Amino acid sequence: MTPNEETVLSGISLDEPWSLVETFSTMHRWMPDDVNKGADEIISRLKRLGIPHTVYEPEIYLSIPLSASVEAGGLSFRAKPPSMSLPVPDGVSGELVYLGANVKNLRNYTRNAADLFADGAGNLAERLKGRILLTEGFGNPALTSIAEEAGALGLIVINPGQNIHWGTCTTIWGTPGLSDLARKPKIPVLAVNNPDGQKLIAMAEAGQPVTVRSDLLEGWFAQKIPVVQIDGADDPDSFVLVHGHYDSWEVGVGDNATGDATMLELARVLYRNRAALRRSVRIAWWPGHSTGRYAGSTWYADTFAMDIENNCVASVNCDSPGCRWATSYHKTTCMAEMKAHVTSVIEEIAGQTPDWIRPKRAGDHSFYNIGLPTYFSLSSTMPDDLRAQKGYYEVSGCGGNIAWHTEDDTLEIADRDVLHTDIRIYTLAVLRHAAEPVLPMDWRATASEFAETLTAYQDAAGDSVDLAPAREATQQLADTLNGLYAVIDAGEIDPARANALLVRISRVLVPVNFARQPRFAQDPAYVCPPLPMLAVARDIDGLPADQQGFARTELVRGQNQYLAALSRVRRMIAEALS
Ligand SMILES: [Zn+2]
Repeated sequence: MTPNEETVLSGISLDEPWSLVETFSTMHRWMPDDVNKGADEIISRLKRLGIPHTVYEPEIYLSIPLSASVEAGGLSFRAKPPSMSLPVPDGVSGELVYLGANVKNLRNYTRNAADLFADGAGNLAERLKGRILLTEGFGNPALTSIAEEAGALGLIVINPGQNIHWGTCTTIWGTPGLSDLARKPKIPVLAVNNPDGQKLIAMAEAGQPVTVRSDLLEGWFAQKIPVVQIDGADDPDSFVLVHGHYDSWEVGVGDNATGDATMLELARVLYRNRAALRRSVRIAWWPGHSTGRYAGSTWYADTFAMDIENNCVASVNCDSPGCRWATSYHKTTCMAEMKAHVTSVIEEIAGQTPDWIRPKRAGDHSFYNIGLPTYFSLSSTMPDDLRAQKGYYEVSGCGGNIAWHTEDDTLEIADRDVLHTDIRIYTLAVLRHAAEPVLPMDWRATASEFAETLTAYQDAAGDSVDLAPAREATQQLADTLNGLYAVIDAGEIDPARANALLVRISRVLVPVNFARQPRFAQDPAYVCPPLPMLAVARDIDGLPADQQGFARTELVRGQNQYLAALSRVRRMIAEALS
């Protein structure tokens, strides 16, 4: 750490952030008016601290769960309807059919039905048509769309524990475009807890019919987006975007009052030390995360697309830091090109070398299609052995605490010491990102990840396909990048010129690895495999003979896209070095 960095970090205090965590722990932030009150709380603190900010108030499309129940055998079971599920206030009745989930995949948002159910996906339409599907898991978008396509009347998901988790079930990312509307869920979805789920399984096996009822409030709502811009001293147009949601399920302390507090302290400390910033830092608090499938961040990505395209150097998401027992960094979200940068920060602050998870198609990561290098969403989490000791199942936030998305996500889920560590990690990562002369993105790491992906795909496909052209192009890209970084490291290229090039490379290579849809569109909210245009190679071997030719056709086209993208990057580098 440089003396300058030490000075900035020494200014971090828990006073402001913990005060916001405490206030948010008493405020529900999911009904539209309450969400705006949450924004007002952040805004009043920014005003008091003298931090310049802008407040936007777009109309975004939301679906807010109100009530739900499952009635069967004269009993009524408590239930929660995921956001964006079809409201059925008058009830829908039908035969219940239980398909056991593939338990490994409870949190798997794959669209591959064969991977979701313990006995595969054979005859799915025959088994589900006109019936109500009962299965274990969460009311996730992929599962919902699979049930809907198979003709199910409804879906009941059995959550793993005593608490029912809030969630969402649409594959549409953000406010839908006209052509997205066809993917809006057309069936009711309800989540029940595990004990009630076991009773429903017995009823399904006894052939008992059920009635599901749900009510949701759906429509356009004006929601506030506070944004802080801290101008860099040398290159104020360029900016690091730090962002996270302030709307939550219930009072959402671990998800995401702690994140809101982290960003508030980051804003306070960096604004005071703005002379240390070469480029700008922009900090945004989003609404519409829980009930709009990331409608707030998506609105921002849409509305400021050209500013982001031309000037944004990275996306740093802040979700669920500072939770109790979350002392481990073994599930930290990061793209390959940012790993060296984030590793050094976590090693210096927490004394741990992080392990990574590939950024998911979830959690306000609304900037993949534009092509922003990305790190965090989840930062700290509970060690695996502690989680096992507590008998906790896997969740997607709150540092691994199963209070995630429930009424138990209250003040006790936050931890002052863990929050302090996470604030220091975010601050050092963003400070360095904004202060270093050359942007910390290492595309050599990305090229080597591409090579690993191609090897895995080739191995899975066997002799039936040939990915040699893609592998050769990847090696050529790696060679070209080695040349580029040698020039950068030797100081033989002007940093401004190097940075412009590195950013332009990101606009090609991030979408290649994280998006199926065009730039400025939004991919649906389900798993995007690495190098998605080539991912059919992975499945080709298991396909029936009559589909092999179609799969090979898709692969040829995918490989062409990949080759063209890599050759574009090599040309950019050659031009910049000439
Ligand atoms: Zn969250």
